[in-house]
Amino acid sequence: MVDVDFCVVGAGFAGLTAALRLKQAGHSVTVLEARDRVGGRTYTENRSDGSWLDRGGAWIGPGQDRIYALMDEFGVPSYKQFVDGDAMMFLDGQTYKYRGTVPLSLSPVAVANLGVVFAELTQMCKSIPPDAPWTAPKALRWDRLTWAKWLDANTLSKPARLLLESSVAGLYTSAASELSLLFCLYQMAAAGGPSFVLGVEGAAEDARPVGGMGAIYRAVSAELDDAILLAHPVRGITQDDAGVTVRSDTAEIRARRVIVTVPVAIASHIVYEPMLPVDRALLHQRMPSGAVFKIAMIFDEPFWRADRLSGQSFAPGSAATLTIDSCTEAGTPGILTAITEGAEARALCRLAPADRRQAVLAAVAERFGDRARSPVDYVEHNWSVERYSGGGMISHAPPGVLTEFGPALRRPCGRIHWAGTESSAQMYGFIDGAVRSGERAAAEVVDHEARARV
Ligand SMILES: Cc1cc2nc3c(=O)[nH]c(=O)nc-3n(C[C@H](O)[C@H](O)[C@H](O)COP(=O)(O)OP(=O)(O)OC[C@H]3O[C@@H](n4cnc5c(N)ncnc54)[C@H](O)[C@@H]3O)c2cc1C
Repeated sequence: MVDVDFCVVGAGFAGLTAALRLKQAGHSVTVLEARDRVGGRTYTENRSDGSWLDRGGAWIGPGQDRIYALMDEFGVPSYKQFVDGDAMMFLDGQTYKYRGTVPLSLSPVAVANLGVVFAELTQMCKSIPPDAPWTAPKALRWDRLTWAKWLDANTLSKPARLLLESSVAGLYTSAASELSLLFCLYQMAAAGGPSFVLGVEGAAEDARPVGGMGAIYRAVSAELDDAILLAHPVRGITQDDAGVTVRSDTAEIRARRVIVTVPVAIASHIVYEPMLPVDRALLHQRMPSGAVFKIAMIFDEPFWRADRLSGQSFAPGSAATLTIDSCTEAGTPGILTAITEGAEARALCRLAPADRRQAVLAAVAERFGDRARSPVDYVEHNWSVERYSGGGMISHAPPGVLTEFGPALRRPCGRIHWAGTESSAQMYGFIDGAVRSGERAAAEVVDHEARARV
């Protein structure tokens, strides 16, 4: 049995940051990580040609101060996302080439409708306190509605509806009919308003760390060194008056407190003794995740740039819902990423790998021409079936959950404390939110211990 001050479950950005801050404050800490790697929902693959791929979370942006602070601490610079050239959108049988946020060549009704909806969302978000969205004046009303239902009442134009439905639902890799309106507003409010989440006027995540997310998480884990035990899925956590015992198949850690950072969608895979309080136990049954593929297509050159295309495209309903230029700061090789979410991702899951590849490349070639059919390499990552993520990209709240169970998201259960991006009041769902949650939980366990000793 290993005896430490604090134990952390999970070595994604939340767990790594929590452990780092605890170690820096002079506490002993052990991190138990289920996978044979750190990073969780981020995963950087270094390639033999010197380039790298982010198979999971990749982008960072304005207002995400805590991930930037971590990068500064470890000397990891960032570079800007390539955005020169036209983006493409395929909506309701029409093709649009455009620069900026939305194609202004959409019908005037659609553009006006988008403007009104955006203004309305901005106002609604202002009434949501990100640290307690369930207390918003209209929380109960909005939590009874789905994102789809709200769009039914607020979108007049078909392209506007399609765009808002698929872009927001895509973020949660689920259908608009599965998402609580209050939850969608909360996630927007937690990022400062709808501009950031909808990527309006340059407010979106617009940069990447040089070397990918791995440049950060490898530096943090080197600092933590042998405090991290890989391939140790936690099976059970027992708490008593004096501390907690955290068990994997081959290790037992005794600590004063434990910080659990696993996604809410799979937090019930751990057996808690005694049983968790009812709100937290039932919350674990109520925040699912969705389906998502992230696919990197590697070419000798980013040929789309020469064609004056940014690489960004959006085609709801296709095998490659979104594409984006994902080259490293060097600009070669050409890396184009396809992200396919929700129902389309589940459809891809049902195909054999060769058929899936063909479907994705065909969809991409329709937009970028025949050169897109022959990448020098094709790397797909199916987060939908990752055992230790429970799907991707993030856990979401269906109707009724935030108002009934929201306060349980961060409330400690005795000696068990909760971190992870889904517990963050700011930048919920983002890597920055994970870092913030780790820092908050590290401060919380130290504070609870100090108070217990008085
Ligand atoms: C395809 C994809 C693209 C994304 N793109 C972006 C993006 O561009 N920008 C952005 O900001 N965010 C993005 N995200 C979201 C972002 O990756 C997450 O918000 C963030 O990584 C979550 O970090 P976390 O530490 O909270 O959780 P995780 O990274 O999920 O960490 C939890 C850790 O717990 C481990 N674990 C699980 N069960 C157990 C167990 N029983 N015992 C021990 N360990 C366990 C897991 O293996 C994992 O390492 C993306 C996510 C995906 C999947």
